[in-house]
Amino acid sequence: MDEVKRIDDKEKKLEDIKKESENKKCPVQRMLYYMEQFISGPMCSRCFPCSLGTAEARIRLQKISEHAETDLKDIEVLKRIGYMMIEGSFCKKGKDTGKFIIDLINSTEEEFKNHITGICSSTECTALVEYVIDPELCTMCGECLNVCKENAILGEKKKPFHTGYLPFEIRKKRCTRCGECIKICPTGAIKINILQHEFVEK
Ligand code: SF4
Ligand code: SF4
Ligand code: SF4
Repeated sequence: MDEVKRIDDKEKKLEDIKKESENKKCPVQRMLYYMEQFISGPMCSRCFPCSLGTAEARIRLQKISEHAETDLKDIEVLKRIGYMMIEGSFCKKGKDTGKFIIDLINSTEEEFKNHITGICSSTECTALVEYVIDPELCTMCGECLNVCKENAILGEKKKPFHTGYLPFEIRKKRCTRCGECIKICPTGAIKINILQHEFVEK
């Protein structure tokens, strides 16, 4: 089965990867998805600008998406990789990937810079958001308790004629931001908040 999947990935066309990546609203996630699919699929490792460039781009994008020791230099390095790939790649796949990097950064540079400050406005970078429950909207139905595999939700399902309940709450340290609770909550009480990080330009 894995072998079949690997062959499918290898046969994946660049245009398909690009199209699939457009399902991501966040440009960092879009580029990360593209790199991961390209590396595990059509990229053949025959030349350095493409094989090393995409590997380095993936590392930088991961750092940006997690706000992990990232700074504006990461964006400059990504651009450099893009230009190097356009110039030095042996085939069209590498050159087109370089162009994809440059075009996406040029058209969404502000959003890339926002990630350096720790803000993902599309809330797709899970390390940059937190899940919270709005007590005004929560009816204590307990549905979210059933779907949370991480046991990250504190609360007790409300029973008729009982009082003294504490509001439902999400334990941030346990929450993996998988999004399952949001899908099940019947009242829209679970929200995604953008975390605020301190920006340090290096
Ligand atoms: S540019 Fe082409 S030949 Fe070079 S590693 Fe990428 S896919 Fe292979
Ligand atoms: S599913 Fe929604 S309404 Fe029900 S307990 Fe959880 S947060 Fe509250
Ligand atoms: S996002 Fe996932 S891990 Fe976090 S509270 Fe909801 S179900 Fe649990």
